[in-house]
Amino acid sequence: MARRIAFLFLISLTFHVVALPQGLPAAARPVVVQGAMRSETEKLASSLDNVSIERVGGWTFWRGTLDGYPVIVSRTLKGIANAAAATAIAIEHYNPIAIINQGTAGGHEPGLRLYDIVLGNSAVSLGAFKTPYRPAGASSNALDWVPLNLMASDGSAGNDSSARKVARFPGDTVLLAVARRVARLHTRGRVVDGVIGSSDMWIDEIDLIERFHTKYGTSVEDMETASAAQIAGLFHVAFLGIRVVSDNTTNGEPYEPKTGEACEEYVYQVVKAYVATLAR
Ligand code: SAH
Repeated sequence: MARRIAFLFLISLTFHVVALPQGLPAAARPVVVQGAMRSETEKLASSLDNVSIERVGGWTFWRGTLDGYPVIVSRTLKGIANAAAATAIAIEHYNPIAIINQGTAGGHEPGLRLYDIVLGNSAVSLGAFKTPYRPAGASSNALDWVPLNLMASDGSAGNDSSARKVARFPGDTVLLAVARRVARLHTRGRVVDGVIGSSDMWIDEIDLIERFHTKYGTSVEDMETASAAQIAGLFHVAFLGIRVVSDNTTNGEPYEPKTGEACEEYVYQVVKAYVATLAR
Protein backbone atom coordinates (compact mmCIF):
# COMPACT_ATOMS: atom_id res chain seq x y z
CA MET A 1 0.00 0.00 0.00
CA ALA A 2 2.73 2.44 1.03
CA ARG A 3 4.67 1.58 -2.12
CA ARG A 4 1.57 2.16 -4.18
CA ILE A 5 1.02 5.60 -2.65
CA ALA A 6 4.66 6.46 -3.19
CA PHE A 7 4.31 5.37 -6.82
CA LEU A 8 1.18 7.49 -7.34
CA PHE A 9 2.92 10.43 -5.70
CA LEU A 10 5.85 10.00 -8.07
CA ILE A 11 3.49 9.88 -11.05
CA SER A 12 1.70 13.05 -9.99
CA LEU A 13 5.08 14.73 -9.43
CA THR A 14 6.15 13.76 -12.95
CA PHE A 15 2.89 15.09 -14.29
CA HIS A 16 3.55 18.49 -12.75
CA VAL A 17 7.19 18.61 -13.79
CA VAL A 18 6.38 18.01 -17.48
CA ALA A 19 3.45 20.43 -17.50
CA LEU A 20 3.71 23.12 -20.16
CA PRO A 21 3.23 26.80 -19.32
CA GLN A 22 -0.50 26.55 -20.21
CA GLY A 23 -0.81 23.71 -17.70
CA LEU A 24 -0.87 20.93 -20.30
CA PRO A 25 0.93 17.64 -19.89
CA ALA A 26 3.47 17.41 -22.72
CA ALA A 27 2.26 13.97 -23.73
CA ALA A 28 -1.46 14.75 -24.22
CA ARG A 29 -2.37 13.67 -27.73
CA PRO A 30 -4.56 16.29 -29.41
CA VAL A 31 -8.00 15.88 -30.90
CA VAL A 32 -8.06 16.92 -34.57
CA VAL A 33 -11.26 18.39 -35.99
CA GLN A 34 -11.41 18.61 -39.76
CA GLY A 35 -13.52 20.69 -42.12
CA ALA A 36 -13.09 21.32 -45.83
CA MET A 37 -14.08 24.95 -46.15
CA ARG A 38 -13.83 28.24 -44.30
CA SER A 39 -17.60 28.07 -43.66
CA GLU A 40 -17.05 24.73 -41.88
CA THR A 41 -13.96 25.60 -39.80
CA GLU A 42 -13.82 29.31 -38.98
CA LYS A 43 -16.14 29.18 -36.00
CA LEU A 44 -14.41 26.15 -34.47
CA ALA A 45 -10.94 27.64 -34.96
CA SER A 46 -11.98 30.90 -33.31
CA SER A 47 -13.51 29.08 -30.35
CA LEU A 48 -10.17 27.55 -29.28
CA ASP A 49 -7.95 29.15 -26.64
CA ASN A 50 -4.21 29.82 -27.03
CA VAL A 51 -4.41 29.48 -30.83
CA SER A 52 -1.39 29.39 -33.11
CA ILE A 53 -1.62 28.84 -36.86
CA GLU A 54 0.58 26.36 -38.70
CA ARG A 55 0.76 25.82 -42.43
CA VAL A 56 2.00 22.66 -44.13
CA GLY A 57 1.93 22.85 -47.91
CA GLY A 58 -1.53 24.11 -48.81
CA TRP A 59 -3.10 23.02 -45.53
CA THR A 60 -3.79 25.16 -42.46
CA PHE A 61 -3.96 23.96 -38.85
CA TRP A 62 -5.18 25.98 -35.88
CA ARG A 63 -3.52 24.58 -32.75
CA GLY A 64 -5.14 25.51 -29.50
CA THR A 65 -6.90 24.21 -26.43
CA LEU A 66 -10.46 23.53 -25.37
CA ASP A 67 -11.00 23.34 -21.62
CA GLY A 68 -7.22 23.07 -21.32
CA TYR A 69 -6.93 20.04 -23.65
CA PRO A 70 -5.05 20.32 -26.97
CA VAL A 71 -7.37 20.52 -29.98
CA ILE A 72 -6.36 21.19 -33.58
CA VAL A 73 -8.73 22.47 -36.24
CA SER A 74 -7.66 21.42 -39.73
CA ARG A 75 -8.93 22.87 -42.97
CA THR A 76 -8.60 19.93 -45.32
CA LEU A 77 -9.75 21.64 -48.52
CA LYS A 78 -12.44 19.94 -50.55
CA GLY A 79 -12.39 16.47 -52.03
CA ILE A 80 -11.01 12.97 -51.52
CA ALA A 81 -7.33 13.65 -52.31
CA ASN A 82 -7.11 16.81 -50.21
CA ALA A 83 -8.84 15.23 -47.22
CA ALA A 84 -6.62 12.14 -47.36
CA ALA A 85 -3.44 14.23 -47.50
CA ALA A 86 -4.62 16.53 -44.70
CA THR A 87 -5.34 13.47 -42.55
CA ALA A 88 -1.93 11.90 -43.13
CA ILE A 89 -0.20 15.22 -42.42
CA ALA A 90 -2.21 15.74 -39.23
CA ILE A 91 -1.36 12.27 -37.95
CA GLU A 92 2.35 12.53 -38.79
CA HIS A 93 2.71 16.04 -37.36
CA TYR A 94 0.48 15.93 -34.31
CA ASN A 95 -0.06 12.28 -33.30
CA PRO A 96 -3.76 12.81 -32.53
CA ILE A 97 -5.75 10.56 -30.20
CA ALA A 98 -8.84 11.04 -32.37
CA ILE A 99 -10.01 12.72 -35.56
CA ILE A 100 -13.46 14.14 -36.22
CA ASN A 101 -14.28 14.98 -39.83
CA GLN A 102 -17.26 17.32 -39.95
CA GLY A 103 -19.08 19.71 -42.22
CA THR A 104 -21.89 19.89 -44.75
CA ALA A 105 -23.46 17.13 -46.82
CA GLY A 106 -26.27 16.42 -49.24
CA GLY A 107 -29.23 14.31 -48.09
CA HIS A 108 -29.85 10.85 -49.59
CA GLU A 109 -33.27 10.40 -48.03
CA PRO A 110 -36.26 12.75 -48.16
CA GLY A 111 -36.87 12.54 -44.41
CA LEU A 112 -33.57 14.28 -43.67
CA ARG A 113 -34.14 18.03 -43.39
CA LEU A 114 -31.67 20.91 -43.48
CA TYR A 115 -29.83 21.20 -40.13
CA ASP A 116 -30.33 17.50 -39.31
CA ILE A 117 -26.98 15.98 -38.33
CA VAL A 118 -25.76 12.50 -39.26
CA LEU A 119 -23.27 10.68 -37.03
CA GLY A 120 -21.26 8.34 -39.25
CA ASN A 121 -21.83 4.83 -37.96
CA SER A 122 -19.78 4.14 -41.05
CA ALA A 123 -18.50 5.93 -44.13
CA VAL A 124 -18.46 4.40 -47.61
CA SER A 125 -16.52 5.25 -50.75
CA LEU A 126 -18.83 6.29 -53.59
CA GLY A 127 -15.86 6.96 -55.84
CA ALA A 128 -14.55 3.52 -56.82
CA PHE A 129 -16.43 1.40 -59.36
CA LYS A 130 -15.84 -1.05 -62.18
CA THR A 131 -17.98 -0.48 -65.24
CA PRO A 132 -19.23 -3.38 -67.33
CA TYR A 133 -17.91 -3.52 -70.88
CA ARG A 134 -19.85 -1.43 -73.37
CA PRO A 135 -18.85 -1.11 -76.99
CA ALA A 136 -18.39 2.21 -78.74
CA GLY A 137 -21.66 4.09 -79.10
CA ALA A 138 -23.40 2.15 -76.29
CA SER A 139 -23.50 5.18 -73.94
CA SER A 140 -23.05 4.88 -70.16
CA ASN A 141 -25.18 4.05 -67.15
CA ALA A 142 -23.83 4.50 -63.63
CA LEU A 143 -26.62 2.23 -62.33
CA ASP A 144 -24.74 -0.70 -63.94
CA TRP A 145 -21.51 0.00 -62.11
CA VAL A 146 -20.11 -2.42 -59.53
CA PRO A 147 -18.40 -1.03 -56.39
CA LEU A 148 -14.69 -1.60 -55.88
CA ASN A 149 -13.03 -1.87 -52.49
CA LEU A 150 -9.50 -0.69 -53.24
CA MET A 151 -8.43 -1.83 -49.77
CA ALA A 152 -9.61 -5.44 -50.26
CA SER A 153 -6.40 -6.98 -51.55
CA ASP A 154 -3.04 -6.28 -53.08
CA GLY A 155 -4.06 -7.73 -56.43
CA SER A 156 -5.87 -6.23 -59.41
CA ALA A 157 -9.05 -4.65 -58.05
CA GLY A 158 -10.71 -5.05 -61.42
CA ASN A 159 -10.18 -8.83 -61.46
CA ASP A 160 -10.52 -9.72 -57.78
CA SER A 161 -14.08 -10.75 -57.01
CA SER A 162 -13.54 -10.12 -53.27
CA ALA A 163 -12.96 -6.45 -54.13
CA ARG A 164 -16.43 -6.01 -55.65
CA LYS A 165 -17.85 -4.68 -52.44
CA VAL A 166 -18.18 -1.11 -51.28
CA ALA A 167 -15.30 0.05 -49.06
CA ARG A 168 -16.77 0.78 -45.63
CA PHE A 169 -15.02 2.45 -42.70
CA PRO A 170 -16.60 2.23 -39.23
CA GLY A 171 -16.94 5.18 -36.88
CA ASP A 172 -15.25 4.87 -33.49
CA THR A 173 -17.71 3.56 -30.91
CA VAL A 174 -16.45 5.78 -28.08
CA LEU A 175 -16.69 8.95 -30.18
CA LEU A 176 -20.12 7.85 -31.37
CA ALA A 177 -21.32 7.34 -27.80
CA VAL A 178 -20.07 10.78 -26.75
CA ALA A 179 -21.68 12.42 -29.80
CA ARG A 180 -25.02 10.73 -29.06
CA ARG A 181 -24.80 11.79 -25.43
CA VAL A 182 -24.71 15.51 -26.34
CA ALA A 183 -27.27 15.24 -29.17
CA ARG A 184 -29.84 17.32 -27.26
CA LEU A 185 -27.46 20.32 -27.42
CA HIS A 186 -28.16 20.53 -31.17
CA THR A 187 -31.46 22.39 -31.24
CA ARG A 188 -31.83 23.29 -34.93
CA GLY A 189 -32.46 19.75 -36.15
CA ARG A 190 -32.23 16.11 -35.20
CA VAL A 191 -29.05 14.10 -34.58
CA VAL A 192 -29.25 10.62 -36.10
CA ASP A 193 -26.89 7.72 -36.76
CA GLY A 194 -26.29 7.00 -40.42
CA VAL A 195 -23.95 6.25 -43.29
CA ILE A 196 -21.87 8.94 -44.96
CA GLY A 197 -20.96 8.33 -48.62
CA SER A 198 -18.01 10.20 -50.12
CA SER A 199 -16.69 10.87 -53.61
CA ASP A 200 -15.49 13.80 -55.67
CA MET A 201 -18.95 14.00 -57.21
CA TRP A 202 -21.94 16.14 -56.32
CA ILE A 203 -24.77 13.78 -57.25
CA ASP A 204 -28.16 15.20 -58.19
CA GLU A 205 -29.40 12.10 -60.06
CA ILE A 206 -32.25 10.78 -57.93
CA ASP A 207 -32.03 7.25 -59.33
CA LEU A 208 -28.31 7.02 -58.52
CA ILE A 209 -28.85 8.42 -55.03
CA GLU A 210 -31.66 5.90 -54.51
CA ARG A 211 -29.33 3.10 -55.56
CA PHE A 212 -26.59 4.17 -53.14
CA HIS A 213 -29.17 4.62 -50.41
CA THR A 214 -30.69 1.15 -50.84
CA LYS A 215 -27.43 -0.73 -51.62
CA TYR A 216 -25.07 0.89 -49.11
CA GLY A 217 -27.49 2.60 -46.74
CA THR A 218 -26.18 6.11 -47.40
CA SER A 219 -27.92 8.87 -45.42
CA VAL A 220 -25.86 11.73 -46.86
CA GLU A 221 -23.07 12.36 -49.36
CA ASP A 222 -19.99 14.53 -49.04
CA MET A 223 -16.52 14.73 -50.54
CA GLU A 224 -14.20 13.94 -47.62
CA THR A 225 -15.37 11.67 -44.79
CA ALA A 226 -14.66 8.21 -46.25
CA SER A 227 -11.20 9.22 -47.42
CA ALA A 228 -10.21 10.69 -44.05
CA ALA A 229 -11.66 7.58 -42.37
CA GLN A 230 -9.59 5.33 -44.61
CA ILE A 231 -6.34 7.10 -43.73
CA ALA A 232 -7.16 7.32 -40.01
CA GLY A 233 -7.86 3.57 -40.11
CA LEU A 234 -4.49 2.80 -41.68
CA PHE A 235 -2.86 4.69 -38.79
CA HIS A 236 -5.19 3.14 -36.16
CA VAL A 237 -6.46 6.54 -35.05
CA ALA A 238 -10.03 6.74 -33.69
CA PHE A 239 -12.28 8.47 -36.22
CA LEU A 240 -15.82 9.82 -36.52
CA GLY A 241 -17.62 11.64 -39.33
CA ILE A 242 -20.28 14.19 -38.33
CA ARG A 243 -22.23 15.81 -41.15
CA VAL A 244 -25.03 18.36 -41.25
CA VAL A 245 -27.56 18.26 -44.07
CA SER A 246 -26.85 21.45 -46.09
CA ASP A 247 -28.90 20.48 -49.15
CA ASN A 248 -31.20 17.63 -50.09
CA THR A 249 -32.03 17.05 -53.71
CA THR A 250 -34.32 14.13 -52.78
CA ASN A 251 -36.80 16.55 -51.15
CA GLY A 252 -35.85 19.69 -53.05
CA GLU A 253 -34.18 21.61 -50.21
CA PRO A 254 -31.49 23.88 -51.71
CA TYR A 255 -27.95 24.38 -50.36
CA GLU A 256 -27.79 26.49 -47.19
CA PRO A 257 -24.17 27.30 -46.26
CA LYS A 258 -25.13 28.51 -42.76
CA THR A 259 -25.75 24.86 -41.78
CA GLY A 260 -21.94 24.52 -41.59
CA GLU A 261 -21.82 26.82 -38.57
CA ALA A 262 -24.56 24.89 -36.79
CA CYS A 263 -22.50 21.73 -37.31
CA GLU A 264 -19.42 23.45 -35.87
CA GLU A 265 -21.39 24.47 -32.78
CA TYR A 266 -22.54 20.90 -32.21
CA VAL A 267 -19.08 19.45 -32.89
CA TYR A 268 -17.64 21.90 -30.35
CA GLN A 269 -19.92 20.29 -27.76
CA VAL A 270 -18.88 16.80 -28.87
CA VAL A 271 -15.19 17.66 -28.52
CA LYS A 272 -15.81 19.32 -25.14
CA ALA A 273 -17.57 16.20 -23.87
CA TYR A 274 -14.90 13.92 -25.36
CA VAL A 275 -11.88 15.73 -23.91
CA ALA A 276 -13.59 15.70 -20.51
CA THR A 277 -13.22 11.90 -20.62
CA LEU A 278 -9.51 11.96 -21.49
CA ALA A 279 -6.64 11.69 -19.05
CA ARG A 280 -4.52 14.79 -18.86
N1 SAH B 1 -21.89 24.91 -53.08
C1 SAH B 1 -20.83 25.22 -52.17
C2 SAH B 1 -19.69 24.29 -52.35
C3 SAH B 1 -19.94 22.99 -51.81
S1 SAH B 1 -18.89 21.97 -52.71
C4 SAH B 1 -20.33 26.58 -52.42
O1 SAH B 1 -20.51 27.07 -53.52
O2 SAH B 1 -19.74 27.15 -51.51
C5 SAH B 1 -18.94 20.53 -51.88
C6 SAH B 1 -18.44 20.61 -50.46
O3 SAH B 1 -19.54 20.59 -49.60
C7 SAH B 1 -17.63 19.38 -50.15
O4 SAH B 1 -16.62 19.72 -49.25
C8 SAH B 1 -18.65 18.40 -49.60
O5 SAH B 1 -18.13 17.66 -48.52
C9 SAH B 1 -19.82 19.26 -49.15
N2 SAH B 1 -21.13 18.94 -49.72
C10 SAH B 1 -22.28 19.55 -49.32
N3 SAH B 1 -23.33 19.07 -50.01
C11 SAH B 1 -22.85 18.14 -50.88
C12 SAH B 1 -23.47 17.30 -51.86
N4 SAH B 1 -24.78 17.33 -52.09
N5 SAH B 1 -22.67 16.46 -52.57
C13 SAH B 1 -21.36 16.42 -52.35
N6 SAH B 1 -20.74 17.21 -51.44
C14 SAH B 1 -21.46 18.05 -50.70
